[in-house]
Amino acid sequence: MDDLPVGRASFDPPRQAAERLWRHVAELFRDERERIAERAVSAPVDVPHLRAAIGAYDFDRPADPEAVIDEVAELLRAATVHTTHPRYFGLFNPTPTLMGIIGETLAAAFNPQLAAWSHAPAAAEIEAHLLRFLGGRLGYPPESVAGSFTSGGAEANMTAVLLALTRTWPRYGTEGLRALDGRPVMYASAESHLAWLKIAHATGIGRDAVRLVPTGPGLGLDVPHLARSVAADRANGDLPFLVVATAGTTAAGVIDPLHELADLCGDLGLRLHADAAYGGAAALSDRLRPALSGIERADSITLDAHKWLSVPMGAGALLSTDAEGLAETFRVTTSYMPADVPDTVDPYTSGQQWSRRFMGLKLFLSLAVAGRAGYAEQFEHDARLADDLRGALAATGWDIVNDTPLPVVCFADPDNGTWEHHDAIAHQVVGGGRAWISPVRLDGRAALRACVISHRTTPADVDELVQAVNDARKAAA
Ligand SMILES: *Cc1c(COP(=O)(O)O)cnc(C)c1O
Repeated sequence: MDDLPVGRASFDPPRQAAERLWRHVAELFRDERERIAERAVSAPVDVPHLRAAIGAYDFDRPADPEAVIDEVAELLRAATVHTTHPRYFGLFNPTPTLMGIIGETLAAAFNPQLAAWSHAPAAAEIEAHLLRFLGGRLGYPPESVAGSFTSGGAEANMTAVLLALTRTWPRYGTEGLRALDGRPVMYASAESHLAWLKIAHATGIGRDAVRLVPTGPGLGLDVPHLARSVAADRANGDLPFLVVATAGTTAAGVIDPLHELADLCGDLGLRLHADAAYGGAAALSDRLRPALSGIERADSITLDAHKWLSVPMGAGALLSTDAEGLAETFRVTTSYMPADVPDTVDPYTSGQQWSRRFMGLKLFLSLAVAGRAGYAEQFEHDARLADDLRGALAATGWDIVNDTPLPVVCFADPDNGTWEHHDAIAHQVVGGGRAWISPVRLDGRAALRACVISHRTTPADVDELVQAVNDARKAAA
């Protein structure tokens, strides 16, 4: 076969060569899809081999494109936790939808610059439409939804804190924290995602300004405890400004009491942010959505598309109805940026990023083709699989230790409550390659965590997981 162009000619090869490469990639995807379930979900990594294989590329001699693609795919196959595997019951990392992968590819090929609306009207309007759709499903009036796509939940949460600081203290933006009469403090549950600590560090309020409020029964944020903390902080001269409700905790999928938190924030004059990075997707299902009731009362909401919505990383979103507040937080006027067009919003003025990838396209294509009903069907299917898993675990002598309508199952061995025991079981299951689960500590109690997150997971995969944990439990006894 003819050699494919390398060197500078590889930037934009002639049609036949380009088509051959695309076919090669399509075949690779086909093989991945057909073989993934037979492989181990994860395997021990030979680090010296991995580094040597990568180090062999000194970039002095151009390499054949098919050979490089194949070698990189082989490295990825050998040294990746396969979140695309039907028995990956792990963190909220999805098996991406095919339309999501195609969306990612189209976005890369057209490469619209999403800083200014005028450079990318189609992309900017598609994203704005999606934000209105998602916000609408979450209970915001769709026409007033503002916000932006972000790299993920952590950036969206950071955006929410910047917005809250700017709205609470208009001088924060110009004079910084020194303009405040005291120390701002914020509240999130002890089960919240600890990106809050990095965010507090970066925004200058400091990590000590994050009050991790204990959880009450059911692992949701303890609202009376929160009220007491706010009162104590105020008595101390601190300046409470923000409460975070987590709607779908990372460890246990628990949704904090949203209405109670909204009521309390209203009474105390605090802002409320809902971190629904994972759980917010449930709003697409009419059956699951009631679990999120009250989220529409939050000043801002984080929702990750690269979690349950199953598009490739990274794609998060910050949603709010406060377009003016976002503009106040992020607006900059410079001569080198194109002037704004009437009745449009430049994305760089409503979020932290400047040059920005078209993250929304993968979600747009995935949603357009699956339809909301397709997503709802998938989520309800995942929830049923999780119910089956709970049932099978309970029937084989495990305690189910979390309570959530979302497909996150935490379970503990009533005969041995130690961390070491649960950690050993997780290690055994993961080490055998049969499934991927993790040990977790919930309110001090050791447990195991399994989340149904891949749309490839079948009832047979759930059975296999139950077998694997019961085998490991016997071995660890
Ligand atoms: C995943 C997650 C985050 C962080 O989001 P990234 O997309 O990883 O940046 C924040 N909060 C919650 C509740 C999460 O589940």
